[in-house]
Amino acid sequence: MRQNNLSIHSENILPIIKKWLYSDKDIFIRELVSNACDALNKVHIIMGDGGEFKISIKIDKECKTISISDTGIGMNEEEVEKYIAQIAFSGAKEFVEKYKSQTEKDPIIGHFGLGFYSAYMVASKVELDTLSYAPQSEPVFWSCDGSSSYTIGAGHREGRGTKITL
Ligand code: ADP
Repeated sequence: MRQNNLSIHSENILPIIKKWLYSDKDIFIRELVSNACDALNKVHIIMGDGGEFKISIKIDKECKTISISDTGIGMNEEEVEKYIAQIAFSGAKEFVEKYKSQTEKDPIIGHFGLGFYSAYMVASKVELDTLSYAPQSEPVFWSCDGSSSYTIGAGHREGRGTKITL
């Protein structure tokens, strides 16, 4: 495991996302399930019909967690860095600049690659455990408490796909 910092001005982004979008906080589930569907579609295109194509949502009342798992394309470490840690925040920056003065909240979140980060409207911490479909891939674990620093390292996943725990 090692510590790394999210890129560009991200320390201001998550509080803004939480504050502005709080009234529509249920959309996080739509965003995460939609990412899971995309991941299934991608692996289906690459690999055809074989294997399992499944999304499961589990609630653990005791641990106060909700997890969304898919058997989709998964990500390697480079992809987690690129798609989760960097792209999302450049998208968030664009979002904040464009909508600084607007009050309308709902239809914009998906347009800026913010979908994944909508999880922070309801979660104090988000963990991701993922294994790419590509042969010889290693599972990757990523965790971020909503501040601008995140942890990335070896994951535990044995089968292809991604599990996101809030
Ligand atoms: P968007 O879906 O609009 O691109 P997101 O912030 O929701 O923005 O996700 C950013 C990227 O992270 C996705 O484009 C995809 O490459 C990757 N990603 C997110 N969730 C998953 C998942 N469950 N499986 C595989 N890749 C994912």
